[in-house]
Amino acid sequence: MIDVNRRKLVVAAGATLAASTIGNPAWADVAGRKLGYAIVGLGSYGLGRIIPQFKNCEHSRLVALVSGDPAKAKRVAAEYGLAERNIYNYDNYDSIRDNPEIDIVYVCLPVFMHAEYTIRAAKAGKHVMCEKPMAISAAECEAMIAACKTAGKKLMIGYRCHFEPTNLEAIRRARSGDIGKLRYFRSEHGFVQGDPSKWRLKKKLGGGGSLMDMGIYALNAARYMTGEEPISVFATEHTDRKDPRFREVEDMIEFELEFPSGVIGSCMSMYSANQNHIMLMGEKGRIELEPGTSYEGNRLWVGRGRENEITPPPGPGKTQWAAQLDHLSQCVIDNREPIVAGEEGLRDLRIIEAIYRSAREQKRLPLRA
Ligand code: NDP
Repeated sequence: MIDVNRRKLVVAAGATLAASTIGNPAWADVAGRKLGYAIVGLGSYGLGRIIPQFKNCEHSRLVALVSGDPAKAKRVAAEYGLAERNIYNYDNYDSIRDNPEIDIVYVCLPVFMHAEYTIRAAKAGKHVMCEKPMAISAAECEAMIAACKTAGKKLMIGYRCHFEPTNLEAIRRARSGDIGKLRYFRSEHGFVQGDPSKWRLKKKLGGGGSLMDMGIYALNAARYMTGEEPISVFATEHTDRKDPRFREVEDMIEFELEFPSGVIGSCMSMYSANQNHIMLMGEKGRIELEPGTSYEGNRLWVGRGRENEITPPPGPGKTQWAAQLDHLSQCVIDNREPIVAGEEGLRDLRIIEAIYRSAREQKRLPLRA
């Protein structure tokens, strides 16, 4: 059951985090207790985006690598000054249990591996950060949550936009009534896929196509921007199955979300054009982000059109990634739940499953509250 009130609290907690962490003595009190992360999967995100961020963290440090490519792992370990004994592969991964330097495992693997490597980490006594989408099915998400609960370990999903200043300011403005009563949400997310052999274009490896990879940004934003949980969905898919890239997964998918307040969310993802856009319309104006969920350069306008560009206040960390990594470390230290815990990933996967079903059956489907 999606609890609308709880959701409001979670978003509020995120906003409070953004507003309160700068110069907050409680945050500063734990300075120096850096928790050790092991990065699993040295691909474009783990290696290219996450690993370089530890230099910006206050409470997190890189201590170990897990990779199927020993030469790459050795090179990265040397570059970041890691001991060679802290390099693991997918076979000896479970022996991380014997390494007290590793507090948290960050799963940066293709989606079909998320559940297995999260559950194995929990069984090895480690907390887990797992990339989005959380897993290929809601059933897998439930198993991941259960495994972390049984082990008494935290589970957080890599929803970096919850720590990104432009998104936090947009949430604050939407809640503050700047644009009046919200009526409509719109978001399109996509990029052009090339090589058909990539794991993102294999159903078994990615769990789906553009919706799993990019549409999830629109879906998650619809929920955190409105602060509501959708009560029904209707979806339509548009895919050229003769295109070698789209033999197994969808290219374009549109989905309309209905929210309890009457707000309509109109979302779209695609793998055949580049787009990254979020817009909220209210009775008195609109909030627009373009790009909205990029790594850098997100822009925000509030008003009737694009005449009033807003510079957001600094976020909770030096960068969105540093804030995300430090948030989980802080939650471990304080023994509290992350603002984007496993349950948040599960909610998105349940809705994603309903979107695919709605597109197949061409029916509006109610969503579990
Ligand atoms: P890549 O394909 O670039 O890297 C995945 C890595 O996983 C590989 O380099 C490899 O690392 C390891 N791996 C192990 N088994 C396999 C396999 N069978 N096929 C392919 N790779 C394998 O993917 P990304 O880094 O782009 O994505 C990883 C995760 O991060 C995904 O869940 C994705 O959705 C998420 N992501 C999140 C983003 C965000 O903004 N939050 C942005 C981009 C991605 P090794 O060689 O070390 O074994």
